Amino acid sequence: MLNLPVRKLHGPGPSPVSDSVLRALATPCIGHMDPEFMRIMNEVRAMLQQVFRTENEMTLACSGTGSAGAEMLMDNLIEPGDVCLIGINGVFGGRLAEKARRAGGIVHTMEAPWGYVFDQDAIIDKINELKPTLAAFVHAETSTGAHQPFDRLASSVHKHGGLLVMDCVTSLSGLPVEIDKWEIDAAYSGTQKCLSCPPGLSPVTLSDRAMHKAKNRKSPVNSWYLDLGLVGNYWSGNRAYHHTAPVNMNYALHEALTIVLDEGLENRFARHRRVHEKLKAGLLEQGFSYASDPEHSLPMLNLVNIPEGIENEGAMRRHLLDEFNLEIGGGLGKLAGKCWRVGLMGHGAYEENVDDILYAFSQTLAAQA
Ligand SMILES: *Cc1c(COP(=O)(O)O)cnc(C)c1O
Repeated sequence: MLNLPVRKLHGPGPSPVSDSVLRALATPCIGHMDPEFMRIMNEVRAMLQQVFRTENEMTLACSGTGSAGAEMLMDNLIEPGDVCLIGINGVFGGRLAEKARRAGGIVHTMEAPWGYVFDQDAIIDKINELKPTLAAFVHAETSTGAHQPFDRLASSVHKHGGLLVMDCVTSLSGLPVEIDKWEIDAAYSGTQKCLSCPPGLSPVTLSDRAMHKAKNRKSPVNSWYLDLGLVGNYWSGNRAYHHTAPVNMNYALHEALTIVLDEGLENRFARHRRVHEKLKAGLLEQGFSYASDPEHSLPMLNLVNIPEGIENEGAMRRHLLDEFNLEIGGGLGKLAGKCWRVGLMGHGAYEENVDDILYAFSQTLAAQA
């Protein structure tokens, strides 16, 4: 048997997984065409609709991690030559732009300083200028801790016949994600952030408007594996075999979603907010400062500047891991070596987690001094 330390997962994901989700994962595998598995898929879809706050029929758990969901949307919704607008204020926006390019899009980007968000009026102006067929932004930039407002963008995109796409990998079930209210056409998430499920599935949802575009493509989708026409047929439609569903991962997601809905989304958002405030107060007391825009900081991902005088931040993170079993994230991309990312996601967002983090930090800082 594997013998691994029990880590406290407070980086950018994966997040801690509760025992009942682990038990669900260990439930005996059944066939992916078994009527009992079809029932589980239907329940997963119904729960995802609640968590996304949507009535979209095309709501499913794409096989693969969050990046697979992003590719599913880019590959299906972009045809060669389509004008796309992508917001880049961190690593994940950059990846989205690259995926859109690979799907054949003519990609225009908007950039904001890392840790900051786009003013919605500036986005709307850009949309009116470019009239993109697809505009995509990251709701919760896990590389920078920035929380992008999304509520006012849809009408400008729709006015020109375009689609509005949202990366809600880190926000889903930790912050309000209002697919129908904000008229988001397509969104993707991941299981290992605030849903607190192991990595392996990417919840996605698409509006009828988005599905209309996907179904009326002139060219076939480049990716056979992520072709929504084929995958959608398995998730609803005629249940035709396409690829073998990751059966046990769907059990785990089923349990994770059950936990989320039992708690209630509003309670869960409030808990993330409350626990973030506690961590923030403690970190400021220890001499850390926040590196993200205070007006638009994420509760589940805290981007902090490494205090002056710390020479080797990598060694400190290693110390946290070795001595306290605590995993936090280093800076990503241009923030590497400058910032730390402290995650409080899902099952890892409780007051006692904050106590553990602050204790380990204080001990490690003292050992450094
Ligand atoms: C984690 C993450 C992704 C990528 O998900 P993977 O599961 O690593 O493929 C995309 N976008 C954001 C905002 C993320 O936090």
